[in-house]
Amino acid sequence: MKYLSTRQNSPHVSFSEAIFKGLAPDGGLYLPETIPQLSAETIANMATQSLSEIALQIAYPFLKEEIDEKTLKNILEEQINFDAPLYKLNDNTFILELFHGPTLAFKDFGARFLAGIMSHSAQTKKHRITILTATSGDTGSAVAKSFYDLPNIDVIILYPQNKVSELQRKQMTTLGKNITCIELEGNFDDCQKIVKESFTNQKLCQQLNLTSANSINIGRLIPQMFYYYYSFSRLQKSYGNEIIFSVPSGNFGNLTAGLMAKKMGLTEIKLIASTNVNDVIPQYLATGKYQTKPSVETISSAMDIGNPSNFERIKFLFENNFSEIQKNIFAVSSTDEETKTEIQKINSLYNYLLDPHGAVAFLGLEKYKTAHQTNLPAVIFATAHPAKFSNVMEKILQKNIFLPKNLASLKNRKEKKIILNSENCASYLAKLNV
Ligand SMILES: *Cc1c(COP(=O)(O)O)cnc(C)c1O
Repeated sequence: MKYLSTRQNSPHVSFSEAIFKGLAPDGGLYLPETIPQLSAETIANMATQSLSEIALQIAYPFLKEEIDEKTLKNILEEQINFDAPLYKLNDNTFILELFHGPTLAFKDFGARFLAGIMSHSAQTKKHRITILTATSGDTGSAVAKSFYDLPNIDVIILYPQNKVSELQRKQMTTLGKNITCIELEGNFDDCQKIVKESFTNQKLCQQLNLTSANSINIGRLIPQMFYYYYSFSRLQKSYGNEIIFSVPSGNFGNLTAGLMAKKMGLTEIKLIASTNVNDVIPQYLATGKYQTKPSVETISSAMDIGNPSNFERIKFLFENNFSEIQKNIFAVSSTDEETKTEIQKINSLYNYLLDPHGAVAFLGLEKYKTAHQTNLPAVIFATAHPAKFSNVMEKILQKNIFLPKNLASLKNRKEKKIILNSENCASYLAKLNV
């Protein structure tokens, strides 16, 4: 299987080239040349398989030329070593809890899979690599934790001073070893600018064997298909093939993985892209016009994105056919006010704590059901543990939200970070060597 660029002006490359490059040379995003197909029988058999057994059948066709099945199986067992419980809320509504990984957000799936594959490759090729990533919070902690203490890999994380929560910061800065954290005196855009400039600096790229682990990496999309299949497999026998998935969306990586899962074999699923007021894609689907805008701050902050990077992949998957895109994605936005009310409603009706991102997905489902007059079974993705957003949750629910043990213990751990401004940061990086 080779990987092509959505802009079709770059050579087709192998899976490992695609993940180490991140972005194609023509500025496009990588996608597999074809989407492998799983038979109805293979899918039906998943009903009795574990998450990592299902993961193997999905991932293997995408990278079988590079990793043998046994090695991949070991990587998956090591990296996808946490559950994704499917919580039954009522007769036909389920919440898929994607926050049981080490950093309590669904980004652990992508980051841990990528870490396993990159580390395997760095060891077999016997070279040292440096991962450079800018973060506004969740990605950095998932990447830091996933690559922690792996041989032949150094990680440098840039985060904006005072713009990530104390917990998010401590998830990165208390690790040490091969994880270096730079606290930049600036905002997220300044961090991203330094990362972009570093990747266009040939000398630095070679000196550090630079690679990125950000959300546009194709190596993060493949593992996001795992849990579509996993939850489908748990419901198919009782509920059939027509299942709705509501996906809280920001950069649309999670939703793009859903579209790929659908093309790969889950042909009858319905996909809802649920956004907050950063509604570039819902607007596009309503009007046919794609208009990026500056992002607006909301309480579902991981989705505050004004130019979703995976839009390019979505267009490519449907050969830029607008009515096909419209047929395959129902996109809808919700306000902070609606989200707050939804969190309260779900808490009082079901005694269930849904974080703001999950609540946006729940609202998306309700709007879909009204628009389509349907009562099909549905899965809502809960992408973060509610305690990760305890400040917001406590205000809305007027009660204490308890931190899970591994978050609470971070409070007293020692931090290690380097505080730099943009200028010092560039010269700091230039002086590094692998
Ligand atoms: C990143 C993130 C999202 C958005 O996912 P995309 O793949 O960027 O659409 C939703 N919820 C949480 C908690 C996230 O961290």
